Amino acid sequence: MLPTPVLLTVEELSASYGSIQALHQVNLQVEEGQIACVLGANGAGKTTLMRALSGLMEKPQGRTHFQGRDLLSMEAEDIVKYGIAHVPQGRMVFAQLSVLDNLKLGGYTRPAKEVLHDIDRVLSYFPRLKERIAQRAGTLSGGEQQMLAIARGLLSKPKLLMLDEPSMGVAPILKEFIFEKLREIRNAENLSILLVEQDAALALQIADMGYVMETGRIVLKGPCDELSRSDVVQQAYLSTQN
Ligand code: ATP
Repeated sequence: MLPTPVLLTVEELSASYGSIQALHQVNLQVEEGQIACVLGANGAGKTTLMRALSGLMEKPQGRTHFQGRDLLSMEAEDIVKYGIAHVPQGRMVFAQLSVLDNLKLGGYTRPAKEVLHDIDRVLSYFPRLKERIAQRAGTLSGGEQQMLAIARGLLSKPKLLMLDEPSMGVAPILKEFIFEKLREIRNAENLSILLVEQDAALALQIADMGYVMETGRIVLKGPCDELSRSDVVQQAYLSTQN
């Protein structure tokens, strides 16, 4: 069997906020069609990793390979056009705009006609959004806003969807729904997903490959079924969760 092609390779990635180094020589890979997750506590560097790959950090060091390009030399807007959508922590939907207008903005790099067609398809994953299409985004629940942020990300037609803590501020029942949806979307859209998450149990449930990050370093990696059984992950990330 041929090995699965790699979509994203990150090599020796370091990034700092002034004198504070937040990432230390991070290495990871996302294969085509894979869901990879990065687990880590508060302040481990997960958001910084997402920001560095989206062109939002100043002078990150290291190398990346994504469809023949190094993301570290690209502007944030070009990274979106080139096939990476970043759903930020806290969702960042436009509270005053309707659900529909938020979705349209997700496709700002693409022809409007194509985007309108895709909005229908993306809404089929999230019927609750369809019901609330004219509602202002700020009136949605946390879980619904997360669905909107994911749907908006999909409208740039990414090859790689990066999600920063999609479980944050979401009611438990919707967390399960959203994480299961991610798997369905990955299968249906021929997408790869890189997910950073504090809720290790949820992330390990849907991801294929996992990385554990502590103080800006990857300290452990492996297929998620193996990681779930490892003592380190059991004690540090799974024992306090239900
Ligand atoms: P959380 O789950 O709380 O979002 P995280 O794993 O995403 O945490 P980061 O937000 O990437 O972690 O933070 C990594 C380190 O960088 C932390 O030590 C944090 O204090 C520091 N840091 C993050 N943002 C800034 C900033 N704007 N200026 C200075 N230091 C920062």
